[in-house]
Amino acid sequence: MSKLLDDMNALAAEISVCRDCMLHLTRDKSVPGEGNVRTKILFIGEGPGANENATGRPFVGQAGNFLNQLLAIAQVKRQEVFITNVVKCRPPSNRDPLPEELSACSKFLNRQIELINPLIIVTLGRFSMARYFPLQRISSIHGQGLWVNDRLIIPMFHPAAALHQPSLRAAIEHDFSLIPGYLEQAKERFDPKPVIEEKPAEAPKPDNSAPAEPDTGEAAQLSLF
Ligand code: SF4
Repeated sequence: MSKLLDDMNALAAEISVCRDCMLHLTRDKSVPGEGNVRTKILFIGEGPGANENATGRPFVGQAGNFLNQLLAIAQVKRQEVFITNVVKCRPPSNRDPLPEELSACSKFLNRQIELINPLIIVTLGRFSMARYFPLQRISSIHGQGLWVNDRLIIPMFHPAAALHQPSLRAAIEHDFSLIPGYLEQAKERFDPKPVIEEKPAEAPKPDNSAPAEPDTGEAAQLSLF
């Protein structure tokens, strides 16, 4: 097993016994996140729901099924990306995470980002967007890739919001379709394609042995077509 995977598993073990906020009192299973630790794309959602709390896995159930469809639109497989949340334990009755819970749990997300070091981060919903753009409204900036500390952050609606509000569905599907382009943009920034200088073609040397043709203008016309 690689050191990176070891470190990620050690972090997940730490999360499973964490008691740094009140959410540990009501959780069944913590949900550290899952996926490819060598991914270029990290997805950050809000917090575990009932299905996630029962299974210990992120984005299962209806929202998870919709996320899988969205990943297909983005032309990536679920096992190729890493998916996690801003809080790793379920807020009771799916309430919003409290500021002190977000603050207590942020150290785990910070370490995950440090370990994975993704090229792009897709935030899903208001709370993960607020990590990077605390003063923005998601309805204003969803789908826009914005550079923050040399990393491309793309805020998007939470898939569960689109399930509850069908009018958001087309917007989130369109936003996911932009992911391949953003990934290329981020790759180019850190691994730009070499600029190939085009040398002008050398003019053919005149063949002094051949008799000179009269200049009818025909050769110039041919070269145009
Ligand atoms: Fe610890 Fe985060 Fe769970 Fe709170 S939500 S108990 S900080 S792992």
